[in-house]
Amino acid sequence: MRIVIKIGTSSLTYATGRLNYRYVKVLVGVLCDLKNMGHEVVLVSSGAMGVGLGKTTLAKKPAETDYRRALAAIGQSSLMAIYEELFGAYGCQVSQVLITKSALQDEANKNDIASAFSRMFELEIIPIVNENDVVASDAMKSMDLFGDNDTLSAHVAEFIKADLLIILSDINGLYDSDPRGNPNAKIIPLVTHLNDEIYKMASGAGTARGTGGMATKLNAAAIVMASGKDMVITNSSRPDDLYKIVAGEAVGTLFKGRA
Ligand code: GLU
Repeated sequence: MRIVIKIGTSSLTYATGRLNYRYVKVLVGVLCDLKNMGHEVVLVSSGAMGVGLGKTTLAKKPAETDYRRALAAIGQSSLMAIYEELFGAYGCQVSQVLITKSALQDEANKNDIASAFSRMFELEIIPIVNENDVVASDAMKSMDLFGDNDTLSAHVAEFIKADLLIILSDINGLYDSDPRGNPNAKIIPLVTHLNDEIYKMASGAGTARGTGGMATKLNAAAIVMASGKDMVITNSSRPDDLYKIVAGEAVGTLFKGRA
């Protein structure tokens, strides 16, 4: 199975903004294991700006774009160095793929990138993907910037023809109302159609450290479902659940594609 797994900054870091090594190590172990089981695994990892912030004297992410680009540049190399080391400890090789929205808008360019992914799978590499935040231009926001890795991971899953996208989040899945405000909120295990009722369930943005909220996850689901593939949103805190999801067990919320 070809699987894209997306992990967000709020799962990778502590509230201090520093990397949660204990968690990242466990996640990396499961990803290597899935690869060893014969799956083709892609990790879409946020955290460049978060890790970049931790390397500086800044207390929080500044709003100015030039600072954010700088933080992404400062953090991306460290993020990869950490992944290289942790994956390497399990005997797994990784690569870095930085993507811009405009590259995917060009059909020929997109196909070239897809073939590079095919080669990496053939060579048993786990590609680690992020948006190229340093060069992505938000002067033309909607045109050239994904801005969140939920959307980016859905596009990646689509163009590399992945069977499944798993979004690891700080929430268990899609709830019928916001579980942070309503203790009686119930998780929705299966979504087969994205209608107004479902969109209404996705309220608000994520945490202070993360970027997307449930709304960007539903946009991601729309992209994946339209290509006939499946997406799962589940809690990042139980990396072992990835085995269950891949085995077809019900975990979190499954968005079933129209295959
Ligand atoms: N690409 C951004 C980063 O690595 C994060 C985007 C997101 O959190 O969705 O910092």
